[in-house]
Amino acid sequence: MKKICVIGNPAKHSLSPIIHNYWLNKYGIEGKYEIKEMKNENFAQFFLQIEKEGYSGCNITIPYKEKAYELVGVRKRESEFIGAVNTVWIEKGQLIGSNTDGYGFCENIEKSIQGFDFKGKKAVVLGAGGAARAIISAILAKGAEVTLLNRTIEKAEKLKNDFTDKGIDTQKILIKDWEQWEQILSLANILINTTSLGMSGQEELKLDLKNLPQEAIVTDIVYRPLMTKLLLEAQKRGNKIVDGLGMLLHQARPGFEIWFQEELKARGIKNVEVSKELRSKVEEHL
Ligand code: NAP
Repeated sequence: MKKICVIGNPAKHSLSPIIHNYWLNKYGIEGKYEIKEMKNENFAQFFLQIEKEGYSGCNITIPYKEKAYELVGVRKRESEFIGAVNTVWIEKGQLIGSNTDGYGFCENIEKSIQGFDFKGKKAVVLGAGGAARAIISAILAKGAEVTLLNRTIEKAEKLKNDFTDKGIDTQKILIKDWEQWEQILSLANILINTTSLGMSGQEELKLDLKNLPQEAIVTDIVYRPLMTKLLLEAQKRGNKIVDGLGMLLHQARPGFEIWFQEELKARGIKNVEVSKELRSKVEEHL
């Protein structure tokens, strides 16, 4: 029986076991997805020997995503823009690391808003942390233009410089002062909050959406709470909204599809489904 785990600290509140065990059950695959809460001093040894420990792959969560990036044998290109991996599998004894957050973000938007295409769209992105790196690299690749605002402007500038160094065409990233974000909204086709503002226990994103066009989409990658103040406010004005839970569900798909590719192929399944049933099961645990 194949076993997969999520490694982190803390990790016991991870929603990943609910997602992956749902798919194992749904597709009748014999397998197990477990939580491995690991102390810092034990992480590297366990991770490097994960196959010997009985696992065919893993997810990596806080605080080990960057460490895992350093340790893997092969880094998939999408992880290089972030310097962090969240999904790891084994090929010929070698650890392969990827980052599926950008993919999960785009899938969530494209599946939630029928006919939406990032090509030529103006995205206003708030935040320049790890999640922003994943999202910006993914939407630039799809042809979007990005106006980036971060409380610490130097971090936004570093993101842009790092992307240039990694060979991304960064002419379509425009950096603006954080204080300007409300004025800049008039240009947006999509507003993306990638900061932790609005998350339970964090400050709220203080906002005035009056300049935001009615047709613009508003999305928040925070999913605790599911309906952030930003989404509630946008919904009240009649903007289309996309919450952050879908990103979490879709970023899980590539890992499952790689770990269990033989089992899925034997069942004639190419892609696993982010169904309404899965979403409600995960929502129960938020
Ligand atoms: P991170 O690397 O720590 O970045 C945090 C970002 O939030 C930075 O841009 C930071 O700005 C900004 N920020 C924090 N406090 C702020 C404040 N008081 N005022 C203004 N800006 C503030 O974190 P991350 O990994 O990118 O994650 C960000 C959020 O996304 C978290 O809530 C995380 O749970 C969520 N997330 C969701 C998914 C999903 O699947 N839906 C995936 C990944 C992450 P500075 O640079 O100025 O500090």
